[in-house]
Amino acid sequence: MKFICDDNLGKLASYLRILGFDTSFDEDIDDNSLLKTASFEKRTLLTRDRKLASRTHPYGFLLIEDDDPLRQLNIVATELDLKVDPRNLFNRCSKCNEICHTVDKDAITEEVFPFILKTQDTIKQCPSCKRYYWKGSHYKNILKKLIAAVPKKALTGTWPEF
Ligand SMILES: [Zn+2]
Repeated sequence: MKFICDDNLGKLASYLRILGFDTSFDEDIDDNSLLKTASFEKRTLLTRDRKLASRTHPYGFLLIEDDDPLRQLNIVATELDLKVDPRNLFNRCSKCNEICHTVDKDAITEEVFPFILKTQDTIKQCPSCKRYYWKGSHYKNILKKLIAAVPKKALTGTWPEF
């Protein structure tokens, strides 16, 4: 399932990306372009806007009334019967929606702190924004939140240990 989030759902979009879902989000997009992208790219629209929800959506939509991003994630998973595969976790850039690639640690000694290089087995990079990702304290904090928010019945595997 692919998604497009309206401009009120940026945080939800990044959680969906972290879980591995292809999620389009652009906070400057106008309603018509949003609907066009949803239709052209076959994306389910997630919106907080009743007016937007009342328009035609060939690939479905969900009107979200809660304003807490983690509860929103729980609602999306429950209402749309989402299948969450923990193996896809942290493969996608939360900022750009691009798939990240594992990088050779020897090639990035100038860019990443030595402590990180020494303690992390895998470091990934987004091909678009060039941001690096690793399983540090930020990763653990987000993982804890996701484990609490995603309903158990949505899981198709087990969460990683941390
Ligand atoms: Zn990126």
